[in-house]
Amino acid sequence: MRTPLVIGNWKMHGLQADARALASAVREGFKRKVAVTIAVCPPFTALPAVAEVLAGSVIALGAQNCHPEPSGAHTGEISVPMLAELGCRYVLVGHSERRKEMGETDEQINRKVQAVLTHGLTPVLCVGETGDERRQGLTFTTIEGQLRAGLAGLGPEAVGKLVFAYEPVWAIGTGVNATPGQAAEVHGYLRGILSELSSKETAQATSILYGGSVKADNAESLLTEPEIDGALIGGASLKAPEFIAIVKKAVAAPAAAREGSR
Ligand code: PEP
Repeated sequence: MRTPLVIGNWKMHGLQADARALASAVREGFKRKVAVTIAVCPPFTALPAVAEVLAGSVIALGAQNCHPEPSGAHTGEISVPMLAELGCRYVLVGHSERRKEMGETDEQINRKVQAVLTHGLTPVLCVGETGDERRQGLTFTTIEGQLRAGLAGLGPEAVGKLVFAYEPVWAIGTGVNATPGQAAEVHGYLRGILSELSSKETAQATSILYGGSVKADNAESLLTEPEIDGALIGGASLKAPEFIAIVKKAVAAPAAAREGSR
């Protein structure tokens, strides 16, 4: 059984006071441990404030990016040890916005994955095809290329330490989510490759999240799909009630899935 994981990606939203307020509201929503791992990834500038608000809570902290080197002359960058010092447990790597806007390459993404693992944090490796790639029948070629390149040089044990997020680019921030069937098909394909790169057991134990326009009203249908192990949420994670509602759907998902299969 894979414990569902729901991660909020706050992107470049929120000054420190906003981030504190949002983190406090999410914390209020989960006073006790639930059967879902919850994490939020605020902007770098809000990490210390959010770490303070979430201290002692069931909500983990993550970062949206990192530099592959531990330190050095890299103006404007943030290293993994700096994130670890602030209490981050997860680091998003290879988000499509970074691939597109910053021109991040698979090779850079692979170096970041290695750096995150080296310092004992969990990389959340994001892969996903564009709308054009899907229309051209290139979905599997694209995500397989991104996955293999992102994991280059990693041994079977290391592969088992990552979390993966399938985020079709055409679904991010558009209000158009992949159907549970579309996502499940890709998740199954990714799991097959992970099985080859590690082992069947490791692949079965690995979390593959879906991301792309997940909202409270479509979360149940996505999260009850057995291949979908949780969600990476952008826009909807900026509203505490909406994010809390999505996490609650993830908590209820196993029972809802059993109900649906009767
Ligand atoms: C994301 O940016 O990772 C994301 C899934 O965004 P949204 O939920 O807004 O589509």
